[in-house]
Amino acid sequence: MAVSVKLHRAAILNPRGPSSWDYWMDGVCAVRDGLVVACGSAATVLAEFPGADLVEHEGVLMPGFTDLHCHWVQHAVRGAYSGELLQWLQEYIWPEEGRFADEELARKRARTFYSDMLSAGTVMGLSFSSVHRAATEIALQEMRGDWVIGNALMAVNAPAYLTSHSQHAPEEMSALLASVVTEHYAVTPRFAPNMRMQDLQVAGKIARAQNLLVQTHLAESRAEVRWVRELFPAAESYTDVYDQAGLLGERSVLAHCIEMTDAEWACLADRGAWVAHCPSSNEALGNARMPLETLRRYNIPWALGSDIGAGPSHSMLHVLQRFFSIHGSAGVEVSAAEGLYRATFAGAMAMGRAARAGNLLPGKRADFVLMPGKPKPTDLDGWFRDLCQGEAEELETRPQETWLAGMRVN
Ligand SMILES: [Zn+2]
Repeated sequence: MAVSVKLHRAAILNPRGPSSWDYWMDGVCAVRDGLVVACGSAATVLAEFPGADLVEHEGVLMPGFTDLHCHWVQHAVRGAYSGELLQWLQEYIWPEEGRFADEELARKRARTFYSDMLSAGTVMGLSFSSVHRAATEIALQEMRGDWVIGNALMAVNAPAYLTSHSQHAPEEMSALLASVVTEHYAVTPRFAPNMRMQDLQVAGKIARAQNLLVQTHLAESRAEVRWVRELFPAAESYTDVYDQAGLLGERSVLAHCIEMTDAEWACLADRGAWVAHCPSSNEALGNARMPLETLRRYNIPWALGSDIGAGPSHSMLHVLQRFFSIHGSAGVEVSAAEGLYRATFAGAMAMGRAARAGNLLPGKRADFVLMPGKPKPTDLDGWFRDLCQGEAEELETRPQETWLAGMRVN
């Protein structure tokens, strides 16, 4: 029996590239077997599928968001604490993550995390777990949407209740890899200060051998950069520490990248590594503005992330609000079209999902959200910026509906 086509009629906004999007005020997205088969003006798509099932929506249909950097184990305490990065980690975040040794707590928290993400319109992302193997496996079992998750590797310079659970030894990493779907797993050194060079090299070797995604933090604060310099005196820079370990490549995602030298930017550009830019987190912890203009000058690929729990909200609308505000007030131009692209398709590209997710082109997974409004084409830029205005809590439930592979999930 042929699988039937379902037609979704609404205003449709579809990101195409770093500064371009398509908009149909009366559009139709045709879905078959969980995939988009056509997307365009209602007149065109309706003619292509006469007699197919039609659902009319009030609002703007757009692809679901991708969160390129977050910590699912910090979701419950998002925005609860702030302070200088290293102190914030040691005083609040590490004790909180230590609690994920409790598998019952981990399962409960994982369910809430995915449910809240779907309410906020986030359908995929890249996330840190705690150090615990079981909590990481639970997050992968409970997954709703398309996520890549890795247990934080923390070999040194942290309390024993974390380092003793870390799976950084080669045989531990191999055992864990055998129990997960590698497409949904990332090698995840927490950051250079929690690893010795030999641990980082093991991580780099395993990631390269299995072509896995790598995620870590880089140059978020000045104190952190100073600490790395003390810990790795032989390295030329913080970035060089990861480079020496073979951790930088097109499958690597570095969160933050604020306190960087030109040589470090050049290294990232040369390796083809991605930057996860987390403006709301940087603002909340009092770090400097990520120099977007420099990132652009070096043509480094990047996408947006919430970085919960330093980021106060998992809502990508809230991340976009802070993104527009922070760079805008520094005189750096950011278009609404770029914002949407960096919160959707760019993140999907970084995750290796460019061919099957991130926007509504034919062949992509039908992961979409419905937002309130029906702007005229000439009002689109302003409408999108307005959509991102409001309190974090309100933005977390602003999407009216969320759909995964053509099925309504919220
Ligand atoms: Zn982070």
